[in-house]
Amino acid sequence: MTWNTSGPTCRQALSHYLDILSLGDQTPSSSKKEGSGHIYHTDTSSFTNTASASPYLSDLDEGEARDAQPPQEDLLEIVSTPDRGQAVFTTRKIKAGTLLLAERPLIRLQKHEEDDPEAIAREFSLLSRADQKVFLKLFDAQKSRMARAASIYYSNCYNCDSYVASGQGGSAVGVFASRINHGCVPNVQFCYDEPSNEMRFHAIRDIPRGKELCSNYDKAVFEVRSKRQRKQQIYYGFICRCEACEPKTEFWARSDERRMAMYDAFKIVQACEKEFLSLSARSGSLDDCESAAQTVPGVSRDTADAALGTLVKLEELLLKECLAGVPLANTYRSLAKWAERKRDYAQAVKWKGKELDVCRLSFGSDALRTKGVQDKMTELEETG
Ligand SMILES: [Zn+2]
Repeated sequence: MTWNTSGPTCRQALSHYLDILSLGDQTPSSSKKEGSGHIYHTDTSSFTNTASASPYLSDLDEGEARDAQPPQEDLLEIVSTPDRGQAVFTTRKIKAGTLLLAERPLIRLQKHEEDDPEAIAREFSLLSRADQKVFLKLFDAQKSRMARAASIYYSNCYNCDSYVASGQGGSAVGVFASRINHGCVPNVQFCYDEPSNEMRFHAIRDIPRGKELCSNYDKAVFEVRSKRQRKQQIYYGFICRCEACEPKTEFWARSDERRMAMYDAFKIVQACEKEFLSLSARSGSLDDCESAAQTVPGVSRDTADAALGTLVKLEELLLKECLAGVPLANTYRSLAKWAERKRDYAQAVKWKGKELDVCRLSFGSDALRTKGVQDKMTELEETG
């Protein structure tokens, strides 16, 4: 496997999509390349073949690793696959919203430390010998580029930026999190819980028994298959074989069309945002269509209606493409924001409620974002 980029990379860059779609809500989390080196094939046709399954913790030296007993171990097993390395599979039918994995990172770096290999070497040296052994067994996609600990860190780290209040969450590597491979149509959503210092993965759709867990490492959910494959070949040395990439089904046949339409929708919402900000700056009000409309009558509300109509289409496309989790939550957040700008509080509450449902499912009820959405919804209800 080859790796043709240098420097840090991070998984779970979907958080960028969140920031882009809802301009001004949050600062984009980083300029890191999307994705991670640790991506294998996700051929759905082989998901039920667990005949060669090794015991769940067989890749670890039993009793040695600090986090060798994740809380949901009876739901999952690690399987040695012929073409995807170690992969995580379900051992029973899973309901959407289930917390499948929660583990403390082996190494976590603050935002300002992420580009510093010496910080990784320091954290590595602080691990117990058993944990160092476990860490050194993780996938290394960038072997020749830098010191091994740093190379392994950058091959497996998840971006935590969006999951802390400051938006500067840094990144983290977990033993089990590192075994979850990429899929363009993921069935789990990563989040980082700062109070417990846990990396968490929730099921974002019902998952049958014997299916591989897949998380989307790529921020650009609206890119077409050929572009994704080019990137995968250049940066990761493999081609994804998820249901949007390979099996020539009806879903596969329509996937590119849907993702192109998502991109068009995204560009329209971006243009609406730019126009709205320009109008509201002229009216002296930063977040209210009615005030903006007094300066430029009609135009501001038309902009909001165009954004809302486009976002509803985007919601439909995401649902058809089975892209739940962060992209869907962010679309609902944008819908609520635009409805609020129109002072249509009944609609704003409706969309906020949908965002809340997706956040509960994707991050859990106690997650920072979920609580924030709940608070905002209460505020909107009181305003309306
Ligand atoms: Zn794929």
